[in-house]
Amino acid sequence: MKTPVSPHIDYQHPEKILQQLIRFNTTNPPGNEKACIEYINQCLKTTGFEPKLIAKDPNRPNLITRLKGKNLAPPLLLYGHVDVVTTEKQAWRHPPFEGKISDGYVWGRGALDMKGGVAMMLAALLRAKAENLKPAGDIVFAALSDEEAGGDFGAKYLVTRYPELFSGIRFAIGEFGGCATYIGRQKFYPIQVAEKQACWMEIKIKGPGGHGAIPIKGSAMAKTARLLNKIDQIHLPPHITTVPEQMIHTIASAMPFAQGLVLHQLLKPALTNSILNLLGEKGNSFRPMLYNTINPTMIRGGEKINVIPSEISIQLDGRLVPGFSPFDFISELRRIVGKDVGVDIISHDPCPAQTDLGLFALLSDIIREADPEGIPMQMLLPGVTDGRFFSLLNIQSYGFLPMNLAPDFNFFKTIHAADERVPVDAIRFGANTIYRLLEKYGSHV
Ligand SMILES: [Zn+2]
Repeated sequence: MKTPVSPHIDYQHPEKILQQLIRFNTTNPPGNEKACIEYINQCLKTTGFEPKLIAKDPNRPNLITRLKGKNLAPPLLLYGHVDVVTTEKQAWRHPPFEGKISDGYVWGRGALDMKGGVAMMLAALLRAKAENLKPAGDIVFAALSDEEAGGDFGAKYLVTRYPELFSGIRFAIGEFGGCATYIGRQKFYPIQVAEKQACWMEIKIKGPGGHGAIPIKGSAMAKTARLLNKIDQIHLPPHITTVPEQMIHTIASAMPFAQGLVLHQLLKPALTNSILNLLGEKGNSFRPMLYNTINPTMIRGGEKINVIPSEISIQLDGRLVPGFSPFDFISELRRIVGKDVGVDIISHDPCPAQTDLGLFALLSDIIREADPEGIPMQMLLPGVTDGRFFSLLNIQSYGFLPMNLAPDFNFFKTIHAADERVPVDAIRFGANTIYRLLEKYGSHV
């Protein structure tokens, strides 16, 4: 497939912009986002924007540009990343970097995460320029590198080195959220207003070492096995924080009375676990929102087959609900691992304990207007996004990439997987809805 060079500025067909974006292989690592960012740069320049490229590594630039507003509201940030995750060892129906349109979908890596979102934002901006829209506040658009591998070349770099680019901004739109999801027969649009905090930890298990020919009981290996087993069996205590609480209220109120009643019981910590068990698979999406969670993901120990290691390291991917610190987490873990085992924090990305819901009413109105059948609701994302970096500048991000997906389209099973794709209709719906946001922004602030 030839790499496209000429910009596609047909904002009425955002799916064509998406096709072009997919054709740049921006698998991260290594990212190599340069050609893709350059394409966006050309699209914007051709239509009269004055974008700036800012790079820590010349092959991995970020783009930032501004649509002038009326200065009646603070600037609004739209941001999206153009890097994607690997397609290795996946069997795809259509090649992942071809950007093919077939059966009503745009196919390819990044269609959902999140070149689709970038295409929607770009289409809305190009339309705003073409139609001479002057929003209440400036619209700042940032196309970013390196979201999938930590943001060192992308959002983290911009926020720490160039915070002035974002001065005065209170709200931002990014991933994840705004796509239709179904519970029972009811359609909801979860808008991400908070995300969990990644808290990575390490436990070092010590034991007697020695020659592999001499049997040793109670070795670090055996202790490790026991500890992993305990972690597998444990139930940490539930924590009901405001965002999932609001979400569950919204869902329960839209359900038939008896089902709503059961769902409401999730909010009583003494019953949370039993209700989740009762809900079975349907409860799985609620579980990470209501608990601090932990998963052992890496083990290191032992260099030679004939040497019994005296130390083994277990790395744990911990995720904290907003408002909790790593120290709270460690004291929860202590009850499982015991007092003697050392738990070290490897890294912790904090997120604000409180959500600034100042834009939520407007986003909800826009969703209701775009799809009267859908009910907007707040959502806490179990994972992390670039939003955590922008929150360091006191910018509240909203995961708002509106897609009116059908009930049989499973967003979370398609993302990062083979056959990632997005309905053409959903991309157009998103571009129109984001354009509506540019029109109405400022009316609620
Ligand atoms: Zn993403």
